[in-house]
Order: sequence, then structure tokens, then C-alpha cells
Amino acid sequence: MHRHENSLNLLAQRKVTKYRPPDRTARIPLLSLDWLWVYIPGTLCNLQCGHCLVSAGPDSRILLPMEVEELAKALEEVAEYQEGHPFQIGFTGGEVLILKSKRFGRRLFPMVEKALEFGDLLILTNGILADHDTLDALVELEERSSHSITYRISLDGSNAKENDAIRYYLRQRPTFHLIIESLHRFLEHGIHPVIAYTYEGTGKARDVLNRKETLGKGYKRMLRKFGLGSLESWGIPFFDQGYETRRRNTFGLSHIESPGITNHCIDAYTNQGFEQFQCSYSRSFGKEPDGESGWYKCAVLPAKSIAADAYLGKSLKRAVREVKLNHPQCITCFHAATQGIGMSCSGN
Ligand code: SF4
Repeated sequence: MHRHENSLNLLAQRKVTKYRPPDRTARIPLLSLDWLWVYIPGTLCNLQCGHCLVSAGPDSRILLPMEVEELAKALEEVAEYQEGHPFQIGFTGGEVLILKSKRFGRRLFPMVEKALEFGDLLILTNGILADHDTLDALVELEERSSHSITYRISLDGSNAKENDAIRYYLRQRPTFHLIIESLHRFLEHGIHPVIAYTYEGTGKARDVLNRKETLGKGYKRMLRKFGLGSLESWGIPFFDQGYETRRRNTFGLSHIESPGITNHCIDAYTNQGFEQFQCSYSRSFGKEPDGESGWYKCAVLPAKSIAADAYLGKSLKRAVREVKLNHPQCITCFHAATQGIGMSCSGN
């Protein structure tokens, strides 16, 4: 049976958890705007991973690739809001490096240059398109700037079998060894990307933390085996969103109907209150299929079709208001906060 069909059958057996009704739903103010997440390639990707959080792929049009001018406008709006306070920029998608191609007028490079005018840049990528010429160009842009570029590369298993079961091209062509090769290219250019992996993000805190620790050790061993022992890895919990919902079934994790988080829950169960929720310190910016670009609650919720009320407006002025934690995805952030892990970004 095709793996997707298998996943869809599993969807039919989904377990649903309903927390208390969403009266007095928690609201989180924007305490600072330290992070701007931009979906520069939209949800366009060179891969077709079976678990993608934003259902990206070669034909995905949930969000469209952005123009340099649209990015520049978003950056200027944040800079104006920040009144001189620094902020960081995250490029995510989809596959960010897809914009280096002639098809997109090689617009990746002016976009990176523009972002570096405003702050340090983090690029989330699967790494496969990072050839030597691309890395040369990115290193040069960083050397010309007073700001830095860091990279986070996704792998979904500490061996080829695990990764290639969910992270693949069309027709399920595998990616593990291509990603390992790309990591060596990054190192050859003096760049040390962080490896991002996902782990089961709900359930009993001790089980989740044990699982995260076990996975982390597995990644360390694998990286050493491939001569990549100098690289760090970083775990992100599963969100109940996009193709990622399929993977919850395979782990027997329930789907959340209403998260039912109140501000009292946040006060009572999280160590640092609002600060661990990325909606308290970031916003995301994306371009809808109708060509309109706009602002969203956080990096996890970047499109109207993912959650209509995650869209906050066309201008940042409309997007700096407090946000409601009424999405199934918010429960993952809440669990991460109660487990002392905190959340800082989406997958790619
Ligand atoms: S998904 Fe997380 S970061 Fe986004 S609005 Fe909900 S709690 Fe905030």
C-alpha cells in the first residue's frame, strides 16, 4: 500500500482529545518583537515529505513565493515598530534555497542581503540545494554585513531508514545521504548548521523529555559516525497540523479539538509565563494564493487556510495586538512551556 494511503487510513482511526470548552481562552500580549519569520518561498519545496507541518511540496500553493520588495516592506515595518531595538529574521517555508534558481531570478541573494541590513538571519533548509556556488555566495554576503547568518537543517531520523520513511522527494526518492553530503559542504565553507529533528510533543512530561533525550543521543552518535560530530542538534515537538497530523496517528497521539488553555493555566503551570510562547515575541509574514501578503500570529500558523483567525492583517500595526490561544497547535506550545522546553519556530 502507498505510504500516504496508509496514513490516510490511519486518519480514519484518529483519537480526539477535547479539553475544557474555550471560554476564557488564554490571550498572550506581544511583549517584544524579537523575531520576524518570513515564508519567502511560500510553501514551495523541492521535497514532498510525508509529515510536513505546512503541507509544502513542489506543487503546494498554500503560500506563494515572495518578491524582494514584499520582504523589504515587512522588514521596514518591524524596524519602525522596534524603534532601534534589534530583531532577528528567520527565513522558512517550503524550501528557502529554491529561490536561488533562475526560475525565481536568483532572488534568494538580494533577499538575504536585504535581511542582513536589518538583523541576524536564520535560514531553515533541508540543505540539499546548498551547492558550493550557493554557499560561496551566502558566505560572501555574510562577510560584507555586520550581521550573521546561521542555518538549521532538518533530518527526521538518526539513520537513513527512519529519515527516508518520511522525508523524501516525489515518488519517495530518499534524502538522508543527500542531506549528510550537504552537511559536509556546509562544514567545508566554515558553516556549522544546527540539525533540527522532531519528537512526540504531547503526553506525560517525563516520557516526552526521556524520548527527546534518547533521540538527541541517537543524533549525536549518527553525526559522529559521519564525521559531523561538531554539529549540534535541536528537537521540535510535533504539531497537530498539515501532513504532520498523519504522524500523530502512528504514535497513537490524540488530536486536539479545543485546546482550552486559559491565562490561569499559563500562570499555574508554566515556569516563565508568556515568555516561552513564540507569539509573545514573534510574528510571521506570508503571501496568500490571491497574491496578498500579510501578518500572522506565529511561525506555526502562517496561512489563512491553516487557520483563518491566525491572519492578523495586511499591516504590522494590526498584528501587534494580543493573540488568542484557541488553536489545536497552541496545546503543543503549552506542553513545551510546561515541560520547560519552550518553542521558537516551525519545521520546514
Ligand atoms: S501555536 Fe503557539 S505560538 Fe502560535 S498562537 Fe498558538 S501558542 Fe502562540
